[in-house]
Amino acid sequence: MLDGDDHQDGGEVLVHHEVHRGRKLVEVRGLKMYFPITAGVLRRKVGDVKAVDNLSFDIYEGETLGLVGESGCGKSTTGRAVLRLYDVTDGMVKIDGQEIAKADAGIVRKMRPTMQMVFQDPQASLNPRMTVASIIREPLDEHTKLSKKEKLDRIYELMDAVGLNRRFANRYPHEFSGGQRQRIGIARALALNPKFIVCDEPIAALDVSIQAQVVNLLEELQDRLGLTYLFISHDLSMVRHIADRVAVMYLGQMAELAPRDALYEEPLHPYTEALLSAVPDPDPATETRRERIILRGDVPSPANPPKGCNFCTRCPKVMDVCKDVEPEFRQVRPGRFVACHLYGETTR
Ligand code: SF4
Repeated sequence: MLDGDDHQDGGEVLVHHEVHRGRKLVEVRGLKMYFPITAGVLRRKVGDVKAVDNLSFDIYEGETLGLVGESGCGKSTTGRAVLRLYDVTDGMVKIDGQEIAKADAGIVRKMRPTMQMVFQDPQASLNPRMTVASIIREPLDEHTKLSKKEKLDRIYELMDAVGLNRRFANRYPHEFSGGQRQRIGIARALALNPKFIVCDEPIAALDVSIQAQVVNLLEELQDRLGLTYLFISHDLSMVRHIADRVAVMYLGQMAELAPRDALYEEPLHPYTEALLSAVPDPDPATETRRERIILRGDVPSPANPPKGCNFCTRCPKVMDVCKDVEPEFRQVRPGRFVACHLYGETTR
């Protein structure tokens, strides 16, 4: 285990949708990611797992959009599809003005430096046979024409930026702690000066005592470098800390999207309400009044979602219409988007 780990403090960027005047860095419309189900010796297609089904959202430059939901709801698939790590089934994804969902491989390659990913498990995402320097150098080799000396300078600069001691440049991932390994992953993601980073459960595999330090580092880098994040997590308390707006997914679809404070103070979608009811309130006065909403039944299979609202089999507020008509995901108050029949006409 090496020293020099995890000493970052971070600030918060408060950029909320309704007051935001920035430009959209990421635009997603009607995104679908289906995986075929095959059967028999001929592997005939008999259906689809609808992992991501018709998602639309924007991320503004400099903001953090939190993406939450139970495991298996499609949030990680969404992150990968947005970065075109999959060939998407349908929809549009524009990053920094460039459409990439349907673009050819050459355009996607050209866009790679702009859009990067920080993975959940730094242990699994770092090649154990490569030194820290060679891990960080890899994207520089692939996408730049920097000289050997310039690359080394850049590697040191990145190690400084993420709080790793330069003396460890020639060590291997197993010689580092989990937090330090995630710093290596972040340095690699930053190597090509990206604008947009998908952070896929970046702290879930880390010790609780290290989690806040890595989140603070991500916030500090965002402030310093003007980064835009899609922060995927099942940890609603952490998302409350880091996100400017929060999107809630259920069974491959978006249930709700709202500015962070509005969502946590007054969730509109019954699923968001249930999810948040399980999160302890830091204020002891309100914590004692917190009522936990227990959802009945299991999450249906994304290969066979229910007719109408996809939450109708478990919703405590279900109505007849819900079992028949799929609610539209729409803006019901300024900056607040919900897919639920409980909410009336669109306000724009
Ligand atoms: Fe519940 Fe109906 Fe709203 Fe779906 S549309 S969340 S079933 S009330």
